[in-house]
Amino acid sequence: MRGMKRRHAIAALSLPALALPAYVRHAPAADVPRFGLGIASGHPQPQGMVLWTRLTGEQLPDSVDVTWELAEDEAFQRIAARGTERAIADDAHTVHAEPAGLLPDRVHHYRFTALGQRSAAGRTRTAPAPGARVGRLDFAIASCQRYDVGHYAAWRHLAAQELDLVLFLGDYIYEYASSPLALRAHEGGVTLTLDDYRRRYAQYKSDPALQAAHAACPWLVVWDDHEVDNDYAALQGQNLQPDFGTRRSAAYRAWWEHMPVAKALRPLAVAGGSMRIHGSLDWGRLARIHLLDDRQYRDVQACPRPGRGGSNTVPLADCAALADPRRTLLGADQERWLAGNWALDRPWNLLAQQTLMTRFAWADPARGASYWTDGWDGYPAARQRLLGTVAERRVPGVVVLGGDVHAHYVADLKADFDDPRAPIIATEFCGTSISSLGLAQERVDAARGFNPHVHWARADQRGAMRFRLDDQTLDAQLLVVDNARDPMSSIGTQARFSVAARQPGALPG
Ligand code: FE
Ligand code: CA
Repeated sequence: MRGMKRRHAIAALSLPALALPAYVRHAPAADVPRFGLGIASGHPQPQGMVLWTRLTGEQLPDSVDVTWELAEDEAFQRIAARGTERAIADDAHTVHAEPAGLLPDRVHHYRFTALGQRSAAGRTRTAPAPGARVGRLDFAIASCQRYDVGHYAAWRHLAAQELDLVLFLGDYIYEYASSPLALRAHEGGVTLTLDDYRRRYAQYKSDPALQAAHAACPWLVVWDDHEVDNDYAALQGQNLQPDFGTRRSAAYRAWWEHMPVAKALRPLAVAGGSMRIHGSLDWGRLARIHLLDDRQYRDVQACPRPGRGGSNTVPLADCAALADPRRTLLGADQERWLAGNWALDRPWNLLAQQTLMTRFAWADPARGASYWTDGWDGYPAARQRLLGTVAERRVPGVVVLGGDVHAHYVADLKADFDDPRAPIIATEFCGTSISSLGLAQERVDAARGFNPHVHWARADQRGAMRFRLDDQTLDAQLLVVDNARDPMSSIGTQARFSVAARQPGALPG
């Protein structure tokens, strides 16, 4: 009966097309909107979080004081914290405010004031205290929101769901010039300079549904490749471009400017400079959420096409490098950090990372089973090490969350994918794209027979995944919009799965 009730509660959240919430529609009118890119919050801690905005409009002074308020109520009668931040031209007039000393596990409301204007108000929350018993966690995963080829109806629906968290798993922007199929063109060409990336973020963040999703709950964000360059690996671009380090540092800087992440992450403008974005967050005693970075420290992809970097799809027999145990996707330091960071005293370990972890053999008509080298299939020894640690240390409730591949995948992760009797070590949910186009479904269907551990594989629809977690069960709802070319599209449920806390593996329904 308990299970029935939970199902029912999630079903009620599949809503028809919605108007935007009142706080977006009723933003103050003005000749020059100063909060034209909306507001955001992110990375909640038990006593604080990051509040973000970027001032807009012509003739902004080099430095502008921006005040922020955080209240326990929507009417801003009970103020919990307030302060002033300086928005400077050097940071594209972005603000990263960090309220502290708040009560844990509380919903808060926030807004900004600058240049005589007040922003819309957003809803955010603190995380539960690390030792607190927590009933449940409601969250969504999302990724891959290519602006020129689709609309953000999925965000419009997620914004209405009163989630605790959104985990954004990469491809917030795409660096490309506009597609010939564009519904709404990318401004400018391929992004190369800091100004290019700033303009691209501004264009994406002008979307009202994306603004509503940011205003509705705090996000945890990690990047994938398109925040810099398709298929880049560490300091190698996909076309082996010279001086890639300069471009990467511009892209990292613009990412920091536009994401609700800590002020202290602000990277120096040094070519090839690094920026640590991996870390973890405890949701009371319920879960530890590990955030990974699979781009910045990886070895370059194995067996690329001649004269190029980036991905390829190859049979194992044609690519000896795939078997090299020294190759790493996370880098040695991050691998070691993760191995020591698993929570053994909580029912769930959520691994928020960028791409598909399960082995997925593609059916190549000429060469048989082939593997895509940009995802974990390109780094099988590193995957084996990670899953080996989980098995050896009996890490409880490991659920791998991902994006990148523009398809909904649900899979059992095993020590040996070739052995049907090999134990299941962890469960994987890899969510489809918000708007980016997917592969032809026939290609995915043709590969299904090679991959019996994969329960679900659908590349033909856009959307996101919604989860409800308690100390017994994880329920997953695979959401899909009916038409990603329509900003007002309705949304539906493609499939549901659940996972029991002490029993890895996805169960249908
Ligand atoms: Fe993508
Ligand atoms: Ca990607």
